[in-house]
Amino acid sequence: MSVSGLPPYDDANIFARILRGEIPCKKVAESEHALAFRDINPQAPVHVLVVPKGRWVSAADFHAGASDAEIAGFWRLVGQVAKAEGLEPRGYRLLTNMGEEGGQEVPHFHVHVFGGRRLGRMVPATPGG
Ligand code: AMP
Repeated sequence: MSVSGLPPYDDANIFARILRGEIPCKKVAESEHALAFRDINPQAPVHVLVVPKGRWVSAADFHAGASDAEIAGFWRLVGQVAKAEGLEPRGYRLLTNMGEEGGQEVPHFHVHVFGGRRLGRMVPATPGG
Protein backbone atom coordinates (compact mmCIF):
# COMPACT_ATOMS: atom_id res chain seq x y z
CA MET A 1 0.00 0.00 0.00
CA SER A 2 2.88 2.40 0.66
CA VAL A 3 4.01 4.84 -2.00
CA SER A 4 7.61 4.20 -3.08
CA GLY A 5 10.38 5.15 -0.69
CA LEU A 6 8.59 4.23 2.50
CA PRO A 7 9.34 1.17 4.57
CA PRO A 8 6.60 -1.44 4.43
CA TYR A 9 3.74 -0.99 6.87
CA ASP A 10 4.55 -2.60 10.23
CA ASP A 11 1.50 -4.53 11.45
CA ALA A 12 3.04 -4.72 14.94
CA ASN A 13 2.97 -0.94 15.49
CA ILE A 14 1.07 0.22 18.55
CA PHE A 15 -1.78 1.90 16.66
CA ALA A 16 -2.34 -1.22 14.54
CA ARG A 17 -2.62 -3.15 17.81
CA ILE A 18 -5.09 -0.61 19.21
CA LEU A 19 -7.15 -0.82 16.00
CA ARG A 20 -7.24 -4.62 16.28
CA GLY A 21 -8.38 -4.31 19.91
CA GLU A 22 -5.25 -6.04 21.23
CA ILE A 23 -4.41 -3.20 23.59
CA PRO A 24 -6.81 -0.70 25.17
CA CYS A 25 -7.19 2.97 24.42
CA LYS A 26 -9.25 5.83 25.80
CA LYS A 27 -11.62 6.10 22.86
CA VAL A 28 -13.06 9.51 22.05
CA ALA A 29 -14.89 8.77 18.80
CA GLU A 30 -15.03 6.22 16.02
CA SER A 31 -16.38 6.08 12.50
CA GLU A 32 -16.28 3.57 9.67
CA HIS A 33 -12.88 4.84 8.55
CA ALA A 34 -11.14 6.26 11.63
CA LEU A 35 -10.62 5.98 15.39
CA ALA A 36 -9.90 8.83 17.83
CA PHE A 37 -8.38 8.24 21.27
CA ARG A 38 -6.51 10.18 23.95
CA ASP A 39 -2.72 10.37 23.75
CA ILE A 40 -1.11 8.34 26.54
CA ASN A 41 1.35 11.19 27.21
CA PRO A 42 -0.70 14.36 26.67
CA GLN A 43 1.12 17.55 25.72
CA ALA A 44 -1.91 19.82 26.23
CA PRO A 45 -5.16 19.68 28.23
CA VAL A 46 -6.76 18.16 25.13
CA HIS A 47 -4.51 15.80 23.16
CA VAL A 48 -6.37 13.37 20.94
CA LEU A 49 -4.95 11.16 18.19
CA VAL A 50 -7.02 10.43 15.11
CA VAL A 51 -5.93 7.42 13.06
CA PRO A 52 -7.36 6.03 9.85
CA LYS A 53 -8.29 2.35 10.04
CA GLY A 54 -6.27 1.48 6.94
CA ARG A 55 -2.59 0.52 6.86
CA TRP A 56 -0.98 3.88 6.02
CA VAL A 57 2.38 5.19 7.22
CA SER A 58 2.39 8.87 6.23
CA ALA A 59 0.23 11.71 5.00
CA ALA A 60 1.59 11.24 1.47
CA ASP A 61 0.97 7.51 1.62
CA PHE A 62 -2.58 7.94 2.91
CA HIS A 63 -3.63 10.67 0.50
CA ALA A 64 -2.13 8.90 -2.52
CA GLY A 65 -3.57 5.50 -1.79
CA ALA A 66 -6.71 5.71 0.31
CA SER A 67 -10.15 5.96 -1.23
CA ASP A 68 -12.01 9.27 -1.30
CA ALA A 69 -14.43 7.83 1.26
CA GLU A 70 -11.58 6.92 3.64
CA ILE A 71 -9.98 10.35 3.28
CA ALA A 72 -13.26 12.19 3.79
CA GLY A 73 -14.21 9.93 6.69
CA PHE A 74 -10.88 10.49 8.38
CA TRP A 75 -10.95 14.30 8.15
CA ARG A 76 -14.61 14.45 9.10
CA LEU A 77 -13.77 12.66 12.35
CA VAL A 78 -10.87 15.08 13.00
CA GLY A 79 -13.32 17.99 12.75
CA GLN A 80 -15.92 16.24 14.88
CA VAL A 81 -13.35 15.61 17.61
CA ALA A 82 -12.27 19.27 17.66
CA LYS A 83 -15.88 20.33 18.00
CA ALA A 84 -16.83 17.68 20.59
CA GLU A 85 -13.81 18.53 22.74
CA GLY A 86 -14.99 22.15 22.91
CA LEU A 87 -12.06 23.49 20.88
CA GLU A 88 -14.01 25.21 18.13
CA PRO A 89 -14.28 28.23 17.97
CA ARG A 90 -11.82 28.57 20.87
CA GLY A 91 -8.81 27.35 18.88
CA TYR A 92 -6.64 24.28 18.48
CA ARG A 93 -3.79 22.78 16.47
CA LEU A 94 -3.63 19.80 14.13
CA LEU A 95 -0.24 18.17 13.63
CA THR A 96 1.14 15.13 11.86
CA ASN A 97 4.72 13.93 12.22
CA MET A 98 6.42 11.97 9.45
CA GLY A 99 9.63 10.01 9.50
CA GLU A 100 12.87 10.57 11.37
CA GLU A 101 13.21 14.32 10.85
CA GLY A 102 9.53 14.83 11.59
CA GLY A 103 9.86 12.97 14.88
CA GLN A 104 7.33 10.26 14.04
CA GLU A 105 7.33 7.60 16.75
CA VAL A 106 4.49 5.42 15.56
CA PRO A 107 4.62 4.45 11.86
CA HIS A 108 0.87 4.58 11.28
CA PHE A 109 -0.45 7.87 9.86
CA HIS A 110 -2.18 9.95 12.52
CA VAL A 111 -3.16 13.51 13.32
CA HIS A 112 -2.68 15.01 16.76
CA VAL A 113 -5.45 17.34 17.95
CA PHE A 114 -4.08 19.73 20.59
CA GLY A 115 -6.04 22.33 22.53
CA GLY A 116 -7.29 23.63 25.82
CA ARG A 117 -4.57 26.24 26.31
CA ARG A 118 -2.51 28.76 24.33
CA LEU A 119 -0.21 26.56 22.29
CA GLY A 120 2.71 28.92 21.68
CA ARG A 121 5.19 28.68 18.84
CA MET A 122 4.38 26.45 15.91
CA VAL A 123 7.82 24.78 15.83
CA PRO A 124 10.63 25.00 18.44
CA ALA A 125 13.19 27.64 17.47
CA THR A 126 16.15 25.34 18.04
CA PRO A 127 16.66 21.85 16.63
CA GLY A 128 15.44 19.34 19.17
CA GLY A 129 14.28 22.19 21.42
P1 AMP B 1 4.22 10.64 16.77
O1 AMP B 1 5.53 11.15 17.30
O2 AMP B 1 3.51 11.66 15.95
O3 AMP B 1 4.39 9.30 16.08
O4 AMP B 1 3.31 10.45 18.04
C1 AMP B 1 2.98 9.22 18.60
C2 AMP B 1 2.12 9.51 19.81
O5 AMP B 1 1.53 8.30 20.25
C3 AMP B 1 2.89 10.09 21.02
O6 AMP B 1 2.34 11.36 21.35
C4 AMP B 1 2.65 9.05 22.12
O7 AMP B 1 2.48 9.64 23.39
C5 AMP B 1 1.39 8.36 21.63
N1 AMP B 1 1.20 7.00 22.10
C6 AMP B 1 2.11 5.98 22.11
N2 AMP B 1 1.55 4.86 22.58
C7 AMP B 1 0.26 5.16 22.85
C8 AMP B 1 -0.84 4.40 23.36
N3 AMP B 1 -0.73 3.11 23.68
N4 AMP B 1 -2.04 5.04 23.52
C9 AMP B 1 -2.16 6.34 23.21
N5 AMP B 1 -1.16 7.10 22.72
C10 AMP B 1 0.03 6.51 22.54
